[in-house]
Amino acid sequence: MDAIQALQSRFSKFKEDLYVKKPELFKELPRFMVFACADSRVCPSHVLGFQPGEAFTIRNIANMVPAWDPTRYSGVGAAIEYAVIHLKVKSILVIGHSRCGGIKGLMSLPDDYSTSTAFIEDWVKICLPARERVKQAHGHLPFAEQCTECEKVAVDVSLENLLTYPFVKDGIQNKTLSILGGYYDFVSGNFESWTPKTN
Ligand SMILES: [Zn+2]
Repeated sequence: MDAIQALQSRFSKFKEDLYVKKPELFKELPRFMVFACADSRVCPSHVLGFQPGEAFTIRNIANMVPAWDPTRYSGVGAAIEYAVIHLKVKSILVIGHSRCGGIKGLMSLPDDYSTSTAFIEDWVKICLPARERVKQAHGHLPFAEQCTECEKVAVDVSLENLLTYPFVKDGIQNKTLSILGGYYDFVSGNFESWTPKTN
């Protein structure tokens, strides 16, 4: 089967299983906004069973949320603004995961933070505060364990960054919006989630 045939065949199955049988799914506004890594193993629709219409999803390298900055990362800023102001999502969920290549890249940056890639390292620097916290608290651990720690702390940094968006902060203060952290460990097959103190 060539690539085009394979796509048509996959679409036919989706149409039969979901599109035809559950048209109501496609009429609802999503309750969740989800940040997940672009890693092909961690699709939140598979891991958490989100159906069509349930989750407005942003996937990027290492599931990072940059702090408010209208001059950079406007793709992420536009998505948050749209989700909160227009879709009125009830929760924003940031999900980290085990063996994340983006986090490994962040932890592997030289100490002067110099970069050798066009985009990747500059992007993952969004979570430099996570790297610094991990190096301070867990610098004695083997590198792989530091990366695991950073995968979780980077979620916290992204949750903190979400609060720099005025409409997110307003939503939390008015109790129309909550933010949640999550971590999917696909090595051990575990998922944990937590609420930051700010909710
Ligand atoms: Zn990843």
